[in-house]
Amino acid sequence: MSEVRSNLPILLPGEAGANESTRAVHTPRPDFSGVRPMGLPTYRTSAYEFDSAQQYADVLGDRSPGYSYSRIDNPTVDAFALGFASLEAHGLDRPVAAQAFASGMAAISTVFVALCRAGAHVIAPAAVYGGTYGVLEHVLRRFGVAATFVDITDPDAVRAALREETALVWAETIANPTTAVADIEGLAAVCREAGIPLCVDSTFAPPPVCRPLMWGAALVMHSATKYIGGHSDVTGGVVVGDVELVAAVRAARIDLGGSLAPDEAFLLHRGLATLPLRVARHCASAARVAEALADHPAVERVDYPGLASHPQHALAGKLFEAGPEGTRYGAIVTITPRGGREAGFALADRLQVAEVATSLGGAHTVVSHVASTTHRQLDDAALAAAQIGPGAVRFSIGLEDPDDLIADIQRALG
Ligand SMILES: *Cc1c(COP(=O)(O)O)cnc(C)c1O
Repeated sequence: MSEVRSNLPILLPGEAGANESTRAVHTPRPDFSGVRPMGLPTYRTSAYEFDSAQQYADVLGDRSPGYSYSRIDNPTVDAFALGFASLEAHGLDRPVAAQAFASGMAAISTVFVALCRAGAHVIAPAAVYGGTYGVLEHVLRRFGVAATFVDITDPDAVRAALREETALVWAETIANPTTAVADIEGLAAVCREAGIPLCVDSTFAPPPVCRPLMWGAALVMHSATKYIGGHSDVTGGVVVGDVELVAAVRAARIDLGGSLAPDEAFLLHRGLATLPLRVARHCASAARVAEALADHPAVERVDYPGLASHPQHALAGKLFEAGPEGTRYGAIVTITPRGGREAGFALADRLQVAEVATSLGGAHTVVSHVASTTHRQLDDAALAAAQIGPGAVRFSIGLEDPDDLIADIQRALG
């Protein structure tokens, strides 16, 4: 065969024997060994072949490395999980493991199932994400797992809530929508004394903003749907942490089945390359927006950890890493206009660049009127107790030009 033709796929005359249906199933494949693609291959397969029955048994029994079934493990999914771990656990002096999930909620529910048994107790934030509250209150409670909800910014409140049966403390780095910042180091100290893991939902503070493992957390979880995917086009979750804990989480994932699909893993992995760049830009723009609107006459309050007026501004300055331009405080800004509920609706509806939409962490700036959406179960008294004004509008600052966003909000405030 001539040199020129060496990369031309050539089909040699086949052996006689196999019939058409068999040939259709067992199509020839090029030799994949030695292929080194720049892009991550998507192993879009549910099943894998083995050299022998013994190898099948060994892989399935976790006695030898390999892939058997994509609910159990998939190379593309592992590449995403490991890639994300290299960002989340950078600088750590202990090994970590990572697991990816079909959604943030699949990650959260799997962690709870892995680390709790009947009779266990969990401490979680009073302002916890609604889905996490639902899993604890509506699902796990039926199976004998109790939860106490406390002010997670106060490690002493967590210490006071500890019980003999407390299996874990669940915290959120930045709370929704108040942007209250958890004292991860203080919580980790309380957990270390009690001999239980601190698990942190760090969805609002993706690397490089905060790396809770550095501050003593045992496990970090993200809804990858948000900043990690970053383009509002994929749903996923990821957990990184101590190897033994993550091994238990993997076992529970295999049993419960909330595994990430390879196509979604491809998209999430692609998001990693630009995550630091995007997050730096999100943060820089959010800081500009928060500063520009803080003293606006139509604004009652702006909640953003980067503002000196924020109750945990100093703590955030310690926990959060300075990115380009010194930005470090995340990109969720909650703006409460004067005039209550109607003013909140009016602000949201008059925006032209920012969009009224669910979710956060994508390229588009999106807003939600807090009291009628994410916190609709709370009446005005409960909202007040949670420090949420009836008119509060949560902004997830996207990647548009910050000057355009500021002008848009100023125009909408009238
Ligand atoms: C979105 C979100 C979740 C849930 O993630 P899904 O991917 O929607 O399942 C959990 N925690 C926080 C803080 C979130 O914002």
